[in-house]
Amino acid sequence: MTDLNTSVRYIKGIGEKKAQAFGKLGVFSLYDLISYFPARYEDRTQFCPIAAAPEGEGVCIRALVADTPRLVRVRRGMELVKFRAVDESGSVDITYFNQNYVKDYLSRGDSVCFFGKIERSGGRCSMVNPAYEKEDKPRGVTGCILPIYRMNAALNQRTIRDAVRQGLDACAGQLPEFLPEDVRERNALARACYAYETIHFPPDFDALAIARRRLVFEELFVLACALGTMRAERTRESGIRLERRDFAAFYGVLPFTPTAAQKRAIEEAAADMTGGFVMNRLVQGDVGSGKTLVAAALCWLCRESGYVSAFMAPTEILAEQHTATLTALLAPFGMRVGKLTGSMTAKEKREAKAAIRAGEFDLVVGTHALFSEDVEYARLGLIVTDEQHRFGVRQRSALIGKGEGPHVLVMSATPIPRTLALMIYGDLDVSIIDELPPGRQKVDTFAVDESYRTRLNGFIRKLAAEGRQTFVVCPKVEEDEETQSDLKSAEEHAKALASEFPELSVACVHGRMKPKDKDAVMAAFVRGETDILVATTVIEVGVDVPNAALMIIENAERFGLSQLHQLRGRVGRGGFKSWCILVSDNKSEDVKARLSIMEKTNNGFTISEEDLRLRGPGDFFGSRQHGLPEMHVADLGADTQVLKTAQEEAKALLAADPELQLPEHAALRDRIAELFRNNTDSFN
Ligand code: ADP
Ligand code: MG
Repeated sequence: MTDLNTSVRYIKGIGEKKAQAFGKLGVFSLYDLISYFPARYEDRTQFCPIAAAPEGEGVCIRALVADTPRLVRVRRGMELVKFRAVDESGSVDITYFNQNYVKDYLSRGDSVCFFGKIERSGGRCSMVNPAYEKEDKPRGVTGCILPIYRMNAALNQRTIRDAVRQGLDACAGQLPEFLPEDVRERNALARACYAYETIHFPPDFDALAIARRRLVFEELFVLACALGTMRAERTRESGIRLERRDFAAFYGVLPFTPTAAQKRAIEEAAADMTGGFVMNRLVQGDVGSGKTLVAAALCWLCRESGYVSAFMAPTEILAEQHTATLTALLAPFGMRVGKLTGSMTAKEKREAKAAIRAGEFDLVVGTHALFSEDVEYARLGLIVTDEQHRFGVRQRSALIGKGEGPHVLVMSATPIPRTLALMIYGDLDVSIIDELPPGRQKVDTFAVDESYRTRLNGFIRKLAAEGRQTFVVCPKVEEDEETQSDLKSAEEHAKALASEFPELSVACVHGRMKPKDKDAVMAAFVRGETDILVATTVIEVGVDVPNAALMIIENAERFGLSQLHQLRGRVGRGGFKSWCILVSDNKSEDVKARLSIMEKTNNGFTISEEDLRLRGPGDFFGSRQHGLPEMHVADLGADTQVLKTAQEEAKALLAADPELQLPEHAALRDRIAELFRNNTDSFN
């Protein structure tokens, strides 16, 4: 019995070698095989009389082989097969390079369909290496829409296509329908069997669109259901129940009035934390939107019930800065804020750990050191992690293991559209701070090319004379690019700047440095000891240097919009008028369009939506860091409407059958289990 789980070895013509090659493409079973969708299609539907065939574009012709194909030796190792083919309109000279078998396969008088590009010169018409099939022995390479697959050296298109054909014939009929009937009907979606057949071998483009829509929906629906069940499972987990408090008591003591968006995020989190369930919430807000205050309010809430909070930052410097900020915010409430970082002396660490164990702090701020094995918390109620995508899943759960189900608040400064956030942070609830505190200055942004270099240097000099500091960001240069490209590597650019500005102090920080050295350079810049800091994107994370008023980004075309926006957020944090200059010599319209979005808006959400539209979701956190399983058909950037519908349908379904226990949902439940099996690491 063959079924969807049968190995691809079952397919005729696939031995061990080819099976291995398929394995490299992630294809092991027949189900994997028929789910290996074409990357694109070639339109071979147009048949033309030879005389009327347009030049230089792929066309099909139906013709008779007019003479006996002959072998021509051009030179050693290079042989051609040549013959003429005719139809009622004219004739064409056909040549095959290094495909000697064509000579024996085709004979004079055969009726053959060819697909290729026609070329004309001197009144003659020719075709080189066209695809061919005899009319009475069709192989599906002409008169059709041809699927083109991603392949590797050991597999060619023909092998993959033939294997898929056999796979579909063997088991398409056994495909389980995991879309519930009513969902399928309500959204006018094709059946699974039709969709799988048609996505590979579409009779026409309309049918292809119908098939694709069904599969995109299916993929997003299954994912949404999977994430939904995870969320449901989690919210049933009981957690520490904190006492309710009126935050007016907290707000009243602050040096400023919280924004409505900050209050909303605080209330949403507080509802979780006082509700008896474990909170797992993402707070997402643009740079400078005041996320720290949200964390502070929740730490206060914890303390009111006698619980301790831990605040984890991704770098030493950020831990340092957060300790200062949070102490200033919380000391007025009599809260004690402690610190634990890797760079503290052994003695300091020992003392800090003893104090943590004894419950002497209401809040501990630190780096990874916070979850070393020998740190024990008295009554840990809340864990806050800043810029979470810098922390691995494992590190986060190590800290969670420290208490009895502490609440978790994750803060991210990468604004992404809500629909996508729900996907990416699948198991987290999301609060969005979509408002900046009043009186923020816009960072004036300009995209310029190399011709501005002299003026730009003049600008750095002028600002330095006023006591301001400058960030210069260079893209990370991959090893293999280094020699031939004129990309500015941080180190080289720092050297150039140092000789351009002998009177100023220039420092450089990049990813290949030891964390300790990196921190030392950063700290010196924070203290104002350096005028110009040249860096790779290591400074992206929220370091606060209020005195920095200029951000220069070299080879700006190399960065995604969201990343540019993050970088720009490093300036304009003090009271000084600030600028961001995007330097790029790239002339492409695409790049210009992207950079001009930066000039026009300072709103992170607008920018991220544009970024999503232009580049797709992979680039928000660098490829494959966003924790989503790989999409086979869905394009999260383009299929947003289907994404919304699929999410709504998933939500409705889970409301009616939270654990997918109804028999009609069994196939869906199995599919989700499968998805989790294959992606245990990627869901974070
Ligand atoms: P981010 O969201 O980037 O972490 P921060 O929490 O660092 O933002 O806040 C940025 C700055 O805005 C800080 O200096 C903070 O004191 C200030 N701030 C936060 N909330 C408000 C508010 N409601 N009104 C005025 N200033 C605020
Ligand atoms: Mg911050």
